[in-house]
Amino acid sequence: MAYFEQGALPEEVRNLDSLKPEERETAIKFWQAVKSDFRFNEYLRGCLNCGVCTSGCPAAKFYDYGPREMIQYMMRDAVDKIWEFTNKKVWACVQCFTCSMRCPFNNEIAGLIMLLREYAVQFALPSAKEILAPYRRVLYTVMTLGNQVTPDMIQPEAFPDWGPQAVEESKNMDVYRKAIPVDLMQRTDVGWQPSLQTAVEMMTIMIESGVMDSIKKVDPDLYDMVMDIYEDRKAQLEEIKEKWQKGELNEDELPDSWLDL
Ligand code: SF4
Ligand code: SF4
Repeated sequence: MAYFEQGALPEEVRNLDSLKPEERETAIKFWQAVKSDFRFNEYLRGCLNCGVCTSGCPAAKFYDYGPREMIQYMMRDAVDKIWEFTNKKVWACVQCFTCSMRCPFNNEIAGLIMLLREYAVQFALPSAKEILAPYRRVLYTVMTLGNQVTPDMIQPEAFPDWGPQAVEESKNMDVYRKAIPVDLMQRTDVGWQPSLQTAVEMMTIMIESGVMDSIKKVDPDLYDMVMDIYEDRKAQLEEIKEKWQKGELNEDELPDSWLDL
């Protein structure tokens, strides 16, 4: 059926054949939310079904996955296919942006993939929970330190594909780190140590921008843990600020990065 004909049908009877009855309402709301996002119309401009995006896609070489498939479902407003794609395939993309650079229609394909993923998290879809579960510690370090990984996470069992190099590096990581002439990087439990003020500002941005709301939906325990840390740090920062403003702290008692308090 042509796109315009499908578009003329009411949402509730369109492309719903293969959806389980209990999933229909969520699938429709999910797709409506993606389409209503201000980025959607900017990212999706058309498609001549040339396959250039999929032909250069590294994920398509290894998985039953292809960006052209997704774009075609979007062009056809195929809510059932989009739902299936989001629940099974969308996580195969490695966000290399090759498809976006090569598309003759200038579709922002990798951005559309990110939109599906973002809304999968916001809707707390099971596939989003499943895919994020192994990254819990990464999420924790990103949200509390701004570091994606910490040096002590580089363990041979976590990176078997690194071979003997990971064994050697993990054994001597503390020695390597102490050799770095930047004091914020001489530990193994942080990639670099942000100041208290930077950490609080970073966490405030995550709260205000809705990142923490999304985390709450997919991992409530992680949300509680991070928010406890945030409240502690905020209180600590307020106390330091107050003492500083009252003249109860000297400059030499503060690290350089706190002097703009
Ligand atoms: S951004 Fe994703 S979909 Fe596009 S080429 Fe890279 S892996 Fe494939
Ligand atoms: S490269 Fe662009 S125009 Fe070609 S199939 Fe992919 S999305 Fe469509």
